[in-house]
Amino acid sequence: MAENYQLHRGLYELVKGVPQSEGNLMADWLGGVFSAVDEGRPIVYNQFTIFSELMVALDVQPLCPELWSVVSVAADKYACCESIDAAQEVGISPELCSVDKTLIGDIMLDKMPPPGMLMLPTFPCDNAKIGYQVVAHLTGAPIYFLDCPYWMDDEEAMDYWVNQYKGLISFLEEHSGKKMDYDRLKEVTEESNRCIDYWLEGIELLKTKPLPMNGPFAAGFMPGLTSLGRPTATAAVKASLDTLKARLAKGETAVPEEKVRVVWFYYPVFWDGGLSRWMAEMGAVIPVGLIGYYPAEPIDTSTPESIIRGLARRSLETPMGRQGRGPSDIWIEDCLNAVEQWQGDCVILAANPGCKWLRGMYGLFRDICRERRIPVMVWEVDFLDPRITSEEESRTRIGQFLDTVMER
Ligand code: SF4
Repeated sequence: MAENYQLHRGLYELVKGVPQSEGNLMADWLGGVFSAVDEGRPIVYNQFTIFSELMVALDVQPLCPELWSVVSVAADKYACCESIDAAQEVGISPELCSVDKTLIGDIMLDKMPPPGMLMLPTFPCDNAKIGYQVVAHLTGAPIYFLDCPYWMDDEEAMDYWVNQYKGLISFLEEHSGKKMDYDRLKEVTEESNRCIDYWLEGIELLKTKPLPMNGPFAAGFMPGLTSLGRPTATAAVKASLDTLKARLAKGETAVPEEKVRVVWFYYPVFWDGGLSRWMAEMGAVIPVGLIGYYPAEPIDTSTPESIIRGLARRSLETPMGRQGRGPSDIWIEDCLNAVEQWQGDCVILAANPGCKWLRGMYGLFRDICRERRIPVMVWEVDFLDPRITSEEESRTRIGQFLDTVMER
């Protein structure tokens, strides 16, 4: 219905005129979603740790609900509040992550196109598992869980996981009415390999000190969720990488005087887009963050089996997915590694109230950092709901912390 989803339709109208050469992926994605809605084609909800290659190969439209919310608050910082409140008013626990309350509320208020099917792995959190089940219940759409073993350190566990992935292909085929063409999947995976190579190169280049461009280098994340495997996604990531390389070649830096390198090992505060710019004015830059930390490997595309195995294996490394599927050590070691490799002076961690599994780890992490004399700041802020902690409060807390780090 043309009158629905006005915020996102408005955004689509705004961005669709941007030249394709600039990698207008948001327009591609939103345009694809609205075409599917208007033509009655099914939409697949892909949870935020599932990248898009299978959907691109099958030509079914992905809609990552978490990305839908991020786009909402980037346009209007209070955009998710109504949905969060609506979910709570019908009895959804306030303790559920705001991401999932928004998802449920968006469906109840018809602010997001309903899914034809949903899919998610059993990581990284219970919130997503509950939120998606509620949506499946409200809409009647079929749901597929990729069951991930807790320990993934032997081949038997990997075989099990690969079988989960094969089950996902069958699920998508059954509910889309389409058949996977493995030649097409090979093409898509090769394109995806190229795109990810560019992304990884950008992530690596941000180890440079002083930083040539404020990070993290997250250029591959949105393509990952919307269009990975299409040439447009590759072109967009390459364009970001080219910009970064050009800055490096000219000796340009993110800030005139780099005073602190901050490892931001969480998502950004999506409604507070000016926060990192404000930090940069203090001389604080972000070389690496959770979205720009992706130890992915290329996929062998020689056979359908190697492709599926490679996609399954790589899906275990997506930002947040990688850290949320086993012992706390993965997240802790990744963050410590980020400090070392990207020469971080300190770590800032947003404590999203609903993200209980991760907040539990922060205490363990802080103890280790105390021993290693790495300054850590944890502050409570909800990345979709600006009513929890204001912009001003965040700046006061972060400003005081950065002053302390600079005085060391
Ligand atoms: S913020 Fe944390 S709890 Fe919320 S959806 Fe993401 S991983 Fe799950």
